[in-house]
Amino acid sequence: MDTQVFFIEGDGIGPEVWAAARPVLDAAVAASYGETRRLNWVELLAGEKAFAETGEYLPQETLETLRGARLAMKGPLTTPVGKGFRSLNVTMRRTLDLYACIRPVRYIEGVESPLKHPEKVDMVVFRENTEDVYAGIEFASGSDEARRLIAFLHDELGADVDSASGVGIKPISKFRSQRLVRQAIDFALATKRESVTLVHKGNIMKYTEGAFRGWGYELAEAEYSGRVRLADQPAEQGPVLMKDCIADAMFQNALLYPEMYDVLATTNLNGDYLSDALAAQVGGLGLAPGVNMGDTLALFEPTHGTAPAIAGKDIANPGSLILSGAMMLEHAGMPEAARCVRQAMNSVIIGKQVTVDLASQIPGARTLGCAAFAELLLKAVQGMG
Ligand code: NAD
Repeated sequence: MDTQVFFIEGDGIGPEVWAAARPVLDAAVAASYGETRRLNWVELLAGEKAFAETGEYLPQETLETLRGARLAMKGPLTTPVGKGFRSLNVTMRRTLDLYACIRPVRYIEGVESPLKHPEKVDMVVFRENTEDVYAGIEFASGSDEARRLIAFLHDELGADVDSASGVGIKPISKFRSQRLVRQAIDFALATKRESVTLVHKGNIMKYTEGAFRGWGYELAEAEYSGRVRLADQPAEQGPVLMKDCIADAMFQNALLYPEMYDVLATTNLNGDYLSDALAAQVGGLGLAPGVNMGDTLALFEPTHGTAPAIAGKDIANPGSLILSGAMMLEHAGMPEAARCVRQAMNSVIIGKQVTVDLASQIPGARTLGCAAFAELLLKAVQGMG
């Protein structure tokens, strides 16, 4: 059976990490399912390659195809510098309503970590992707809108806040909060995780962050009775525990007691900070996979950008894209192939033959180029067949 996977190569290090990743993912499918399953890769244009071929950075055809797709992967895309350009990534997420940004954070043995017990880190962050202060509703200081809002809020803000102030709006809605939390709970139930923690700043922002927390609990009680229990309920009430944590405490706890956390569901800004900070505990950007998911389409992508300073030099780490591929395989119903990719990654890293970003963290490691590192992964995967 063929599984169609649309892919966007991406800019900067995109082409080289893709050249490294595809053979590894294909080999993992072959090693796990023989001739019975195969990935059918279909390229879509976006970014600089699209501009060179079509004169557009994000052709309508690409968006239309993705709109009807279930499975896709993308490399990093440059945000063209200049007036009037919005990030292609943000445009894609908004247009396709990919409302959940999901990033697993799992320790890979051998990688340097600032934690005492990094082996206890195994979390999955679900970050709301479409609202919060990232909705981009901002008014520049001196604009009519900012002046009007400041005049309206004059008593709250204090007399020293004058029209020379920028103003931003933080929308948090029930519908968007609950669809994000629903994805996190469904994932926790499907993968037999122990808990879902709502991460928020509700102690300060009661009607936005606090509301997110409240709507999360409300959803658990209304839709997951018997499957999700709250902290004061006995274990028989459900296999998954729902709890919450204030965002600043979460950063501290994730460093001190990572074993207390499993699936995290949070608002956009908290999630942005949290997922990068957690990635740094387990190897950094070169090993951080992710997916942006809507109700039908799942768009898997590495969390790093185009890394222009190292592009074309064969030194990038393809690990993040390859591990995003493992997530894609799992999502597409090929868990054996996903396991195969992750095992290969573990064994190659334990063998201390790694790309320069990891070699600089691992004492005694030998530095390999992007292609040579992928070649080792490929051999490890083929050895599992
Ligand atoms: P970046 O992730 O490209 O680079 C940050 C640092 O990490 C750099 O030192 C880089 O060399 C290093 N790095 C990144 N990926 C690496 C890898 N696979 N192996 C080894 N080292 C790696 O972030 P940036 O410099 O802020 O952004 C560069 C461009 O990428 C910008 O145009 C930005 O808009 C874009 N970007 C795109 C995405 C995306 O497509 N999802 C995400 C972030 C940034």
